[in-house]
Amino acid sequence: MNFQQFKDEYLKIVNFKNKDFKNFVNFVSRNYRFKRIFRYKKQFAIFVPHQIISNVVLCSHFDTVIDNGKVYIDRKKEVFFGAIKGDCRAGVLMMLKLSEKGRISILFNGEETGAWGVRKFCEKFNYIQEKIPELRNISFFIEFDRKGRGQFICYNHDNKDLKNLFIENGFIEEEGIFSDISVIEENLNYCGINLSIGYYNNHTEYELLKFEDWLYTYEKVQPIISKFYDKFEFVEKIKRKYWDFDFDRHIYYEQKEIEKDWDKLKKYLGYCEWCGSLKEVAFDSYFQGYLCKDCYFEVREELSQEYF
Ligand SMILES: [Zn+2]
Ligand SMILES: [Zn+2]
Repeated sequence: MNFQQFKDEYLKIVNFKNKDFKNFVNFVSRNYRFKRIFRYKKQFAIFVPHQIISNVVLCSHFDTVIDNGKVYIDRKKEVFFGAIKGDCRAGVLMMLKLSEKGRISILFNGEETGAWGVRKFCEKFNYIQEKIPELRNISFFIEFDRKGRGQFICYNHDNKDLKNLFIENGFIEEEGIFSDISVIEENLNYCGINLSIGYYNNHTEYELLKFEDWLYTYEKVQPIISKFYDKFEFVEKIKRKYWDFDFDRHIYYEQKEIEKDWDKLKKYLGYCEWCGSLKEVAFDSYFQGYLCKDCYFEVREELSQEYF
């Protein structure tokens, strides 16, 4: 796939607003080649290709934090920037392209607002398996919803064989807190893995999508998802506490200093990755994620108690 093709398809997908889930699924059925499409209300849709060449199931989410805004394109650098919905429409395009070629995929809605689409999917899973026999023999799930280039995250499991499969194929492990795939892991006991799709600064109007980084995953993942596997057993991960994350330094924080630090940060309306509430949030480089003010304080309080 070259940038021109990517750009044409991506712009069509970016055009859909959050409320357009149903229209989007109709759009997919007109423009992509699937044998069957199952849509469950506005909550999720399952795409079954004509020929199935793998029992790895792909997924991504339709909803975006920023629903409106301008998209700019730097054709020379092959980069999109602005309110580009890279999280997670870049994943949606990846999923559809790879799914057409022989893998079942699932589009979830509501990842950014409590993951209600994937929760409904888990609730209905037995019913779904009755309706779609192809989903009775799943090895593991891949989600396309991670920022950056060539990274993967496993949230709740610690299956070394699965991780090595991705490491051998050019991916690097990172830490993360939550995504649709972690809900699947918790509820259905399958392993999941979330892969980079080339966006940066998500949940902002200054988002960036590098085609080169998107393409990296698109190409590297194909050999992995071109065969059938036994089920990768769900080996529960011993969760590290968040102060064990690789912070480069630990500082004792005075209340006043924390106030000052918080004031200096750029704030957005979004979901706090610690408490999950919709609030003004800011990117915290220690936590490596978005936090609301209360959680920003809490993280520092815990840090200072732990180390001093
Ligand atoms: Zn996302
Ligand atoms: Zn997001």
